[in-house]
Amino acid sequence: IYILSIESSCDDTAAAVLQNGKVLSNVVARQEIHEQYGGVVPELASRAHQQNIVPVIDVAMTKAGIDKSQLSAIAFTQGPGLMGSLLVGSSFAKSLALALNVPLVAVNHMQAHILAHFIDEEGFDKPEFPFLAMTISGGHTQIVKVNSFFDMEVIGETTDDAVGEAYDKSAKILGLPYPGGPLVDKFAQLGNPKAFAFTKPQVPGLNFSFSGLKTQILYFIQKNVAINPNFVAENMNDICASIQYTIINILMDKLKLAVKETGIKQIAIGGGVSANSGIRTTLKETEKKYGWKTFIPKFEYTTDNAAMIGIVGYHKYLEQQFSDASTTSKARIEL
Ligand code: ATP
Ligand code: FE
Repeated sequence: IYILSIESSCDDTAAAVLQNGKVLSNVVARQEIHEQYGGVVPELASRAHQQNIVPVIDVAMTKAGIDKSQLSAIAFTQGPGLMGSLLVGSSFAKSLALALNVPLVAVNHMQAHILAHFIDEEGFDKPEFPFLAMTISGGHTQIVKVNSFFDMEVIGETTDDAVGEAYDKSAKILGLPYPGGPLVDKFAQLGNPKAFAFTKPQVPGLNFSFSGLKTQILYFIQKNVAINPNFVAENMNDICASIQYTIINILMDKLKLAVKETGIKQIAIGGGVSANSGIRTTLKETEKKYGWKTFIPKFEYTTDNAAMIGIVGYHKYLEQQFSDASTTSKARIEL
């Protein structure tokens, strides 16, 4: 079974071809235009998707080495995401499915971040149901009890900013370009995580909050820059390491509580922030420390990609969960 999948929920235009659960090609065109604005500009994202979608799909098909006539289905991201971005992918997927007379499969982007662990990849184990997934991305921070492919239960989530936003907004305060998460991670690896202390928010249960941390960092920087205008430049590594240390502690506290409450010790992470070196190392350490079994995605399946849409498309195909051309894109959808 060959699935062509298209992802266009935010600012990356992506296409992939999967043969059964295996990735034949996985192509992403990043939109650099947003860097200068310090965040994604929806209008520009939509226009860039329109420019990129045909070449990206062409490259994905060429790399996969198959002909369009061999495709079994077209999978696309239905939501959640930016409406103008989603519409480019869904319109293209609908037209292509119609032209090739193959089924259309609508995929939930957040399910895809979780189910990316089911891509066949040498050296990567797949979790067994039920497992806990922590999705840490640019728009979400959730702990999900995954009972089966399509039975998922959100047991905790952020009450304000997502963890990726906390990274990106902290980076912006430090004068770093968007998206700042990877840069904060890079500097953090060179700094002392205990150089500066930030307090963790007090949020009951398995929910998260990150907006207070962002404000705390803003005041901390403003106060120190008033004393020493070069404070940020002189302490970049230590500031980033301290921010990262605080964020990882917040995430780990909630994960530990989720394990305690559910008794489930298989933990998978997903979403852009699962690319973070600190969270990856910290999570691996829990295997020896607490006897958890952890699942950390291959780097290219962390931030937005179409391979993860393809693996969900494949499993939906097997269950004949198809959509028709009347399917609408959704800026918000539940898991
Ligand atoms: P969502 O999936 O919630 O709709 P999104 O698709 O925009 O949001 P992703 O592409 O999954 O988000 O993740 C992007 C986020 O990941 C950005 O906030 C980015 O800064 C963050 N990120 C990527 N790499 C790293 C890293 N190494 N360390 C920290 N954050 C990172
Ligand atoms: Fe995403």
